[in-house]
Amino acid sequence: MRIDIMTLFPEMCNAYLGESIIGRARAAGKVEINAVDIRDYTEDKHRRVDDKPYGGGMGMVLQAEPIWRCYNSICENMGKKPRLLYMTPQGKTLTQDKVKELAKEENIVILCGHYEGVDERVVEALEPEEISVGDYVLTGGELPALILADSISRMLDGVLSGEECYTEESHYNSLLEYPQYTHPSEWRGREVPEVLLSGHHENVERWRREQSLKRTAERRPDMLEKAELTDKDKIYLSDLDSTTR
Ligand code: SAM
Repeated sequence: MRIDIMTLFPEMCNAYLGESIIGRARAAGKVEINAVDIRDYTEDKHRRVDDKPYGGGMGMVLQAEPIWRCYNSICENMGKKPRLLYMTPQGKTLTQDKVKELAKEENIVILCGHYEGVDERVVEALEPEEISVGDYVLTGGELPALILADSISRMLDGVLSGEECYTEESHYNSLLEYPQYTHPSEWRGREVPEVLLSGHHENVERWRREQSLKRTAERRPDMLEKAELTDKDKIYLSDLDSTTR
């Protein structure tokens, strides 16, 4: 998969994308992620890409033309029009289901706004899908774009050591993950649950499933409506419900 991030701050993106799991996945060719500098597409001799908002007010707005030219250059280079996503607090909130869907694409392009945002006319002309990372406002779209690129990349073949690394995790199946423990088995008087030391695979699996159901019921009961539950799960949840009532 190839992801192109259109940004005014490519180095901000590259610093993150060169490290850890994503850095290794890029080096091994499991995913290609490019940070493309919107400034390379301005015709302004001072490489300016922003200006004051019409109507007055605070801050600067990214101009339409450099973004238009940047996206079209990526399209020409690819020989097709890839799906375009614009990171904005006004978009639909990102979910694991959306990440799953995007991970099936061959190419995506992500537009990062900055300052007060981008000239609305380029949004109208390019018709990107607008995505938010939550109901709060950041200074730029770089962190949201990296969140999106990271969450997609880890679902690609060969990026994590196995599919269960993400299928068992929070949100994948509308459940939160069970608690995790590592060495030592006793830490400051707190012990690791005995079942995890038992070596009994089936009991460990059942305990993890129940912990996952319990956490989701306590912390995000709304998620349970979408979760696929077995009869055993339903009995566990109704027993849990009657003991907490
Ligand atoms: N003036 C805009 C508004 O009120 O809707 C906010 C602009 S924000 C300061 C600058 C840029 O950061 C946005 O264009 C967007 O790309 C990015 N951004 C900020 N918060 C975001 C969020 N929650 N999700 C996605 N992108 C965000």
